[in-house]
Amino acid sequence: MATIDLGAGVAIAGAGIGGLVAALSLDAIGVEVTVFEAVDEIRPAGVGINLLPRSTRELDALGLLDRLASNAITPDTLGYFAKHGREIWSEPRGLEAGYRWPQLSIHRGKLHRILLDTATARLGADRVVLGHRLTAVDTSADTASATFAGPGGTEVNVSAGAVVAADGIHSAARAQFYPDQGPPQWSGALLWRGIVDRQPVLDGRSMIWIGYPAQKFAGYPIADLDGGRQSFNFIAELRPDDATLADREDWNRRGDLADFLPAFETWVFDWLDVPALIRAAPQTFVYPMVDRDPVDRWTFGRVTLLGDAAHPMYAIGSNGASQAILDARVLAGCIGSHSDVEAALGRYEQVRLPPTSAMVEANRGLGPERPMQLVEERAPTRIRPHRRRDHPFGGRRDHRGLPAHRRVRPRSPRRSDVARRRTY
Ligand SMILES: Cc1cc2nc3c(=O)[nH]c(=O)nc-3n(C[C@H](O)[C@H](O)[C@H](O)COP(=O)(O)OP(=O)(O)OC[C@H]3O[C@@H](n4cnc5c(N)ncnc54)[C@H](O)[C@@H]3O)c2cc1C
Repeated sequence: MATIDLGAGVAIAGAGIGGLVAALSLDAIGVEVTVFEAVDEIRPAGVGINLLPRSTRELDALGLLDRLASNAITPDTLGYFAKHGREIWSEPRGLEAGYRWPQLSIHRGKLHRILLDTATARLGADRVVLGHRLTAVDTSADTASATFAGPGGTEVNVSAGAVVAADGIHSAARAQFYPDQGPPQWSGALLWRGIVDRQPVLDGRSMIWIGYPAQKFAGYPIADLDGGRQSFNFIAELRPDDATLADREDWNRRGDLADFLPAFETWVFDWLDVPALIRAAPQTFVYPMVDRDPVDRWTFGRVTLLGDAAHPMYAIGSNGASQAILDARVLAGCIGSHSDVEAALGRYEQVRLPPTSAMVEANRGLGPERPMQLVEERAPTRIRPHRRRDHPFGGRRDHRGLPAHRRVRPRSPRRSDVARRRTY
């Protein structure tokens, strides 16, 4: 067995989005931190991911916003459409909605690479240790410890001032604290995700949601390419009878077009050919919509949970990565403003557990998809388009070429949008 003594430093298990932002945030306030990641090599995994303004504000505070924004798209609109392609509603996003920080739509692999490169540069390459899988945690009055399965099966015991388990939805630390939690709970929905290179959809800055909760197609651009083309990320969602498709949730599991494309074959509109778009994807990945019940505690003495380890939630509303980033920033703020580690981790839990538990519960309801469900119930068949002179908005078209629709007015910046030094 090998031992590593980090003294009063912090050990983080998991170099995902939450773990790396926690490492950068702790490093920024002068705390020594080492990250231990299970995989031997970090590859650009995943497809598109969204970062909401509340999280890009935090990434800006870490000096990362410009680099991220130049590798991303800043969406300005979210449009809701019925399954026949007619617009139900649209609303502004990010800067267009009056936030001081943009929303970013980005490939998860690029986001991960930027965070990893920055962590390696700022902390030192030896502070991001690959090939170490967390197996157990422990805490005592004056130290925390974490046991890892290291290279070649060696057991590595790390002692530190605090241990942060940011080891994702299958967290080993969470399983230790909650041995009866069982596997993640499946909502019954499956998500097939893919990326296509194509001409922009609408104005090239719009996120689109089409259909209704039981059959939905969502998409958004994640990068500008040469020749005016874009990388366009899509998610096709169905609730199939065949539960075996849900199997174990694995972000890298390949999808099969035969399992979902037939349901979308008739979704051909004058502004988008959904089946053609899906067919153009070189590959798809299938992931079940899963979460876990919220728990009462994340912090046990000098050990705490963060990100998906703490509050895995349905992939609705762009909150997975954003909430992990907020956890990381609050955690660092608490450690920076408390001399007692246990008090700091307790305060972190007090600030972050209630809102994220509420979000897990809210995502189980229909949330922002409720209007789509109402449209499906009340207008299940195609409605004849208004003749131009009868159109309620006078046949006007908006900048995307769609019939002009009532839009939510951008709001003024909120006080909470103003970046500030966090103390708790
Ligand atoms: C490979 C992969 C691809 C993903 N793709 C998408 C996507 O396309 N779209 C999307 O919305 N979300 C995706 N996610 C999930 C998304 O990143 C998270 O929901 C969100 O960012 C919260 O971040 P997190 O740091 O809590 O968890 P994650 O980003 O999942 O990071 C957890 C990290 O911990 C590591 N780990 C796991 N077990 C251990 C262990 N025992 N010891 C040490 N390290 C461990 C994992 O390898 C991973 O690096 C993906 C996650 C992964 C791991």
